[in-house]
Amino acid sequence: MPDRSFLAWPFFEDRHRAHAERLEAWCTAKLPVDHHDVDAACRKLVAALGRDGWLMPTAVDPAAPGPLDVRMLCLTRETLARHDGLSDFAFAMQGLGTGAISLFGSPEQQRWLEKTRRGEAISAFALSEPRSGSDVANMDMTATRDGGDYVLTGEKTWISNGGIADVYTVFARTGEAPGARGISCFLVPAGTPSLTVAERLEVIAPHPLARLSFDGVRVPASAMIGKPGDGFRIAMSVLDVFRSTVGAAALGFARRALDESLSRANSRELFGKPLFDLQMVQGHLAEMALDVDASALLVYRAAWTKDSGAARVTREAAMAKLFATDRAQAVIDAAVQLHGGDGVRKGHIVESLYREIRALRIYEGASDVQKVVIARQVMGGLAE
Ligand SMILES: Cc1cc2nc3c(=O)[nH]c(=O)nc-3n(C[C@H](O)[C@H](O)[C@H](O)COP(=O)(O)OP(=O)(O)OC[C@H]3O[C@@H](n4cnc5c(N)ncnc54)[C@H](O)[C@@H]3O)c2cc1C
Repeated sequence: MPDRSFLAWPFFEDRHRAHAERLEAWCTAKLPVDHHDVDAACRKLVAALGRDGWLMPTAVDPAAPGPLDVRMLCLTRETLARHDGLSDFAFAMQGLGTGAISLFGSPEQQRWLEKTRRGEAISAFALSEPRSGSDVANMDMTATRDGGDYVLTGEKTWISNGGIADVYTVFARTGEAPGARGISCFLVPAGTPSLTVAERLEVIAPHPLARLSFDGVRVPASAMIGKPGDGFRIAMSVLDVFRSTVGAAALGFARRALDESLSRANSRELFGKPLFDLQMVQGHLAEMALDVDASALLVYRAAWTKDSGAARVTREAAMAKLFATDRAQAVIDAAVQLHGGDGVRKGHIVESLYREIRALRIYEGASDVQKVVIARQVMGGLAE
C-alpha cells in the first residue's frame, strides 16, 4: 500500500483528498491498458479518462472559466504515474495541449475545451523545432499575414500526440519584434490542409511523438490565441502552470519504485535473512524515502503557491521539476539495483520506470535550464 500520509498536509483541501482516493480506486480497477499499440492505447486512455470525468481539471470549464487547480493536476499526475506512465502521459497532454486556450483563448476557441475535457478530442503543444528546443526564442517557423488569414510555414519536432491529436496549439514567428517578442500562438485543427506528419519518432518509453511539417498551413486570423507577439509569454505562462506537474509525475514514478523496493526487501531472502536486514539496503531505502518526501514537499509547495493566487511560480516550479525529476532518477536507479537481475529484465516494472523517467529531465526545460532559472530567481531576490 503506497504511503498516503502526505494527503494530510495543509497544502490540500478535502476535495483534493477525496479526488485522490477516488482516482486511486479507479486506477486499481482500470489500469494498465495494453501498451503494444501506443496510438490505440492513448486514444483508449483519453476516452476512458474523459468518460469517467478525470480530465475535467486539465482545462478551464468554458461555461464558468476560473483558474486551473494545480494541486488537482499534480495529484492526478502523481497517482496515474504510480500506476501507469502512459495514462499519466495521456492525461498530461490534454492539459499542456490546451493550456494556451484555457489561459488566453477566446470564448469561441474555448469551445474546444468542452471536447478535450470529455476525452472526445486529443490535444498537443507544438513549440519545439529542430533548431530551437531549449532556445525557444530562436524559432524558425513563420506565420505570415495574408488578408484575413495567417500562413504557417516550417517544422515542429518532438510533438507529443503528434499524429493522433485533433487540435494543436502552435507557436510561430509573426515578427512584431526580434526574438521572443515576435512570436504568436495559434490554434490549428489537425485536419487543416498542408499540416502533415513528416516523421514518427520512437523513444525509450514509447508514446505518440512526431515531427510535423507546416507547408503553408492557412488559418483564419481568429485562430490566433492572445495578441500578436504574445506567443512567448503565453508559452511561458502555460509552462509555469504545468512544470510542477512534471515533478508530480516523477514523484509518482519514484513512489512506485520505492514501494516495489520495500516489497522486494521484505520478500527476498539473502544469506538466510530478508534483504531488508542488510544495513546497506536500509540505507538505500532511507535515502529513497527521503527523496520522495522532499520531492513531494517541493511539488505541492509549488502547486499550492500557484493555487493561492501567485501570478507566477517560476522559482517554485523550477525547483519542484528539477529536484523531483533528478531524484526520481536516483530513486529508480536504486530500485533497479535492489532488484538485482530482475531489475533490468524487460517488462519488469522497475525496468520500465527506468526508461519512463529519463525524458522528464529533458522536456519542458532540461535540468540544466532549470538551474539557470533558479539561479536567476535567487539572484533577483537578492537585488530586490
Ligand atoms: C519525450 C519527449 C517529449 C516531448 N514533447 C514535446 C511536446 O509535446 N511539445 C514540444 O514543443 N516539445 C516537446 N519535446 C521537446 C523538448 O521540450 C526538448 O527536447 C527540450 O526543450 C530540449 O531541446 P532539444 O532537444 O532541442 O535539446 P537542446 O536545446 O539542444 O539542449 C540539449 C542540452 O543542452 C543543455 N542545455 C540547454 N540549454 C542550456 C542552458 N541554458 N544552460 C546549460 N545547459 C543547457 C541541456 O543539458 C540540454 O538537455 C519533447 C521532448 C521529448 C524528449
